[in-house]
Amino acid sequence: MSMQKSYCRQMKYSGPDMLPPSNAYKYDILIQMEVLSGCEQACLGCFVDKNIDASMNQQIIDRAKELADGVKRTGMNLREFVIGPTDIFSASNTERVLNNPVVHDIMREHEHARIAAPAKFDVATMERVQEIFDILDDEDKFRREMIIEFIMPIGKIDQMLNDIVYHQEVMRKVKFFKENTPKQMDWSWTLQASNVVGKKIDKETYNKILKRSVRDYETIVEMNPAFSRARNQLIQRSNLMGWNNWLGNVIDEDNHNEAVMSMANLYCNSINFMGITIVPGKDGPTTHLNVNLYEQAFFLENKNLDVTGLTFEEILDRKDELATKGINKSTQVKDCNGCEYAVACANRLIFEAQDTLNINGCVLNKDVLDHYNPYDFTWNDDALKKLGEAS
Ligand code: SF4
Repeated sequence: MSMQKSYCRQMKYSGPDMLPPSNAYKYDILIQMEVLSGCEQACLGCFVDKNIDASMNQQIIDRAKELADGVKRTGMNLREFVIGPTDIFSASNTERVLNNPVVHDIMREHEHARIAAPAKFDVATMERVQEIFDILDDEDKFRREMIIEFIMPIGKIDQMLNDIVYHQEVMRKVKFFKENTPKQMDWSWTLQASNVVGKKIDKETYNKILKRSVRDYETIVEMNPAFSRARNQLIQRSNLMGWNNWLGNVIDEDNHNEAVMSMANLYCNSINFMGITIVPGKDGPTTHLNVNLYEQAFFLENKNLDVTGLTFEEILDRKDELATKGINKSTQVKDCNGCEYAVACANRLIFEAQDTLNINGCVLNKDVLDHYNPYDFTWNDDALKKLGEAS
């Protein structure tokens, strides 16, 4: 059916902070399940464990349902239901997950929720795409016009930029999305890693990727460096630093609006947002609050963020407690004391990331943040439009 209009340019129309004041009560929830196992891809800078234990899938899905019920109970908005962590087209258990009746119940219960998934449809066969859509388009299972968002890691940069045959193949699938399914489709490229990306993509290449993406692939680039999944603190830290330096090198006044940077647009996904991830643990699934260093970041080793066994309401309370703790902590960290972004960072649980990574200072690139969070930002575009209409 239709392709979603780049709804998430700057996450403009999905972040509650961007809503007119009359809708400011909206509170968005993202629930992420780590259930897909197996992947045939080798994406640039991937940190994902491709062989997660799928034997706990039913427990993870049931836990997601429990939380989704809590979202409903509290009148909040399930914005995104992320099914990952591996490629939805090449994971070995995609069908089992998509055919799971509890997954259908969740998506029926939340009419505005989208399914989001990592998806290498560039290399999937047309037959495989059709197989997956046979399930998604079965109206006994999913709503006819449900939104589906595919996030496609950039594999080979040269190929994405210069290979005509590759471009045709990607657009053949996009044509399928437009014409062969009633679903509302959205997709974007994602740049996944930090150090790796930093070493391979200079500013000129980055600008080429942005341009090629918007002009020729008709979509946007999202940032999802994924380093919180790295296997130890040292690698997490070095990737965080590498990522911040790289962002500083490639982003400027002219191009900052061209990529989706929910990670840098601090008033998106902060006060009115909570992300939760459910993963297979040693003795059963464990549940974790996300830290919005970037969307979908989570740190399994941080006990404060571990909300296993808590009800949805208790998780909301935990998030509030940690946000308050973060605001208090901000006065004790030299870089953060008096920083205009401290409240947004606290609500994004950034101070828990400082603790986890053992960094007693800023964990973001403030020069980059300045592009996305102007000081005099008082009214969002929607509110200004309303003001204009009123005067
Ligand atoms: S210094 Fe950095 S981490 Fe600290 S509040 Fe400001 S932006 Fe956030």
